[in-house]
Amino acid sequence: MSERLPGFSTLAVHAGAQPDPTTGARATPIYQTTSFVFNDADHAASLFGLQAFGNIYTRIGNPTNAVLEERVAALEGGTAALAVASGHAAQVVVLQQLLQPGDEFIAARKLYGGSINQFSHAFKSFGWNVVWADPDDVASFERAVTPRTKAIFIESIANPAGSITDIEAISTVARKAGVPLIVDNTLASPYLIRPIDHGADIVVHSLTKFLGGHGNSIGGIIVDAGTFDWSTGGKYPMLSEPRPEYHGIRLQETFGNFAFAIACRVLGLRDLGPALSPFNAFMILTGIETLPLRMQKHCDNAKAVAEFLASHPAVSSVNYAGLASDKYNQLARKYAPKGAGAVFTFSLKGGYDSGVNLVSKLQLFSHLANVGDTRSLVIHPASTTHSQLDDAAKIKSGAGPDVVRLSIGIEDKEDLIADLEQALNA
Ligand SMILES: *Cc1c(COP(=O)(O)O)cnc(C)c1O
Repeated sequence: MSERLPGFSTLAVHAGAQPDPTTGARATPIYQTTSFVFNDADHAASLFGLQAFGNIYTRIGNPTNAVLEERVAALEGGTAALAVASGHAAQVVVLQQLLQPGDEFIAARKLYGGSINQFSHAFKSFGWNVVWADPDDVASFERAVTPRTKAIFIESIANPAGSITDIEAISTVARKAGVPLIVDNTLASPYLIRPIDHGADIVVHSLTKFLGGHGNSIGGIIVDAGTFDWSTGGKYPMLSEPRPEYHGIRLQETFGNFAFAIACRVLGLRDLGPALSPFNAFMILTGIETLPLRMQKHCDNAKAVAEFLASHPAVSSVNYAGLASDKYNQLARKYAPKGAGAVFTFSLKGGYDSGVNLVSKLQLFSHLANVGDTRSLVIHPASTTHSQLDDAAKIKSGAGPDVVRLSIGIEDKEDLIADLEQALNA
C-alpha cells in the first residue's frame, strides 16, 4: 500500500465502513436492535465503566451510527463524532457540556430561524444566555465576551441569504477569550468548507440537509476537532473534573483529544436521550456517498440561477456569494472556492405581494420549509418562517417583505430557469 491519504470522494464512500465481519455484506447493514449481548460479566462491567469501548444500548451507540460518525469525522478532519436525532439535538448536547446555568454564549445574529428560536427561548429556560453578535463585524464578538462566556457559535454559510462568515477572524476572538468556536456547517457541508481547517473546535450539522441530501431523514452530528484544552481554569467541569456519573473519571485526562465527543455521548446523549435511529443513519450514509457529486451540481446550478435572476427586470437584487458583484464574494473565494453553496435569497421589485405570487406560480420548485434537498425548494420568509417578526426585524434578519429564498436542487438548470422565468413573467 502506498502512503497516500485517501481523497475526499474516497472518504465519502469508504470512511468508517468495511464488509460486515459476520455476513460479508458490503453496504453497511442497519443494526436495528436496541441492545447488544455482553461476552460475560467482566465485559459488561468494563463497558459500563468506560474501560472498554463497545455496544451496550442504541441510545448510547449503534454500529450503523458508528460508521456514520467515523465517516463525517473523516470528512470534517475531526478526531471523533457523535450522531444524534436532529441538528437541534446536536446543538443542545454540545452546549450542555459547556454551559452551567447563568453562563453565556455568543452567537452570530444571522442563523437558521429554528436556531434563533432555540437559543432565545428554550436555552434561556435552562439558564444558558445567548448574546448576539454581528457576523459581518468581528469586533462585535470581541465586545460581547465576558467572564461568563463559554462558547462562540456561528454558521459557515449563514441563513437565509447564504452569506459567508470569516471563520478564521472569529476563531482568533475565541482563542483570545479561551472558549471553543462552534461552527454550524450545515449549508456548506465539508465538501465546500472544512471549518476545523480554519480554527473551529467543534462542528455541528443538521444531517437533514445536504449531507443526507434527499429530503427523507432528520438527523444531526457533532464533530470534535480535538484541538481545545478543556482543563484551563476549571471552566469546563463536565470535561475536566471528576464525574460522579462515571466513578469519578476525568474525561479530558482519560480520553485526550476526543474527550469532547465522549462527553457528548456519555453525559449528553446517554442522559438527554436524542438518539438517531439506525435506519436514518443508513439513509444518511447512503446520501453521503454522493455528497461531492451532488454538492458540485447544487453549486453550479445555483450560480446559473443567480446569474439569470440578476439579469431579470422584475428582480431588484440577488444575494449570492458566488456572484462576482456580491459583498461576500471575496470571503467565498477564500473559504468556498468550489462554490458558494445552493441556498440564497433575492428581492422582487413588487414587494410582499409579488413574493407571495411568485411562490404560487412556480411549478418545479416545491414550496416548503427545508433546504438541501435534491429537489429545488422555495419559500417566502416574510409570509411564513419570519411572519411573527415586525417589519424592521424582518429586514434586519434578511427576510424583508420582498425577499424570496431558494434552495437549488440537482435538476437540469435549464428547467429551473424556465420555471422561474414563467413565474416571474406571470
Ligand atoms: C435545519 C438546520 C438546523 C436544524 O436542524 P434539524 O435537523 O432540523 O433539527 C440547524 N442549522 C441549520 C443551518 C439548518 O439548516
